[in-house]
Amino acid sequence: MLTPSANQRCKRAARLSPFVLAGHYPPGCSGPESSEAHRQIVHIEGTLEPNQGPPEVHGRRIWSSRVPNKVKVFSWLYFKDRLSTRANLCAKSILDTDQCQRCSAGTQDWHHVFFVCPTSAGVWARLNMSHVAALSDVDIWNADTPPNLDAKMWPFVLQSILWRLWDARNGTIFRNEHPSSRSVSSKISDDLVIWRKRFKNDSDVHSLNSWRAYLLYCNSSNSSTVVDP
Ligand SMILES: [Zn+2]
Repeated sequence: MLTPSANQRCKRAARLSPFVLAGHYPPGCSGPESSEAHRQIVHIEGTLEPNQGPPEVHGRRIWSSRVPNKVKVFSWLYFKDRLSTRANLCAKSILDTDQCQRCSAGTQDWHHVFFVCPTSAGVWARLNMSHVAALSDVDIWNADTPPNLDAKMWPFVLQSILWRLWDARNGTIFRNEHPSSRSVSSKISDDLVIWRKRFKNDSDVHSLNSWRAYLLYCNSSNSSTVVDP
């Protein structure tokens, strides 16, 4: 029997659990009130929330950012390599092949999806930030950002980019879409407008506007150098 406090935390964190996102609980776990669910949720809380559990760089970065909650959950799954890439599905024997069905040029693991697959690589190239592909998942939070832009905004922009790269991948697989790096970059710029209201401080809004202006400029000026497949 969980204490009221533990039960409350259990229900709150359950809403963010990848098991809940997947529509089921882990084996031996009948629901959020069970001891197994509680154990899983306490673990997730420790990785997502600052000031609880061991320090965890990704959890701190994700949870303190102002991206929408759906993007935060996505980011957590990204940095834990829990996304349903073909490599992960193959490892679980759900698929027979891990080859990327977008480019047929390699194993579709998280690095391929977000940095190597031509459309994704094209987006980074358009932003003049291809160097991030060589960074570790810890160092990417502190990637060199373009001059004259507020580096404090980078975690927000980074998650926005990753979110749209995953959406583009899913669009190809599930919606028969074939987005170009230009259209993906354009959607990222649009997201920065839609999510701008999440910032209350005028200087933060100004910084985000500068980032968006940079994205728009790059998307336009690099059209001749970045050719989509
Ligand atoms: Zn690919």
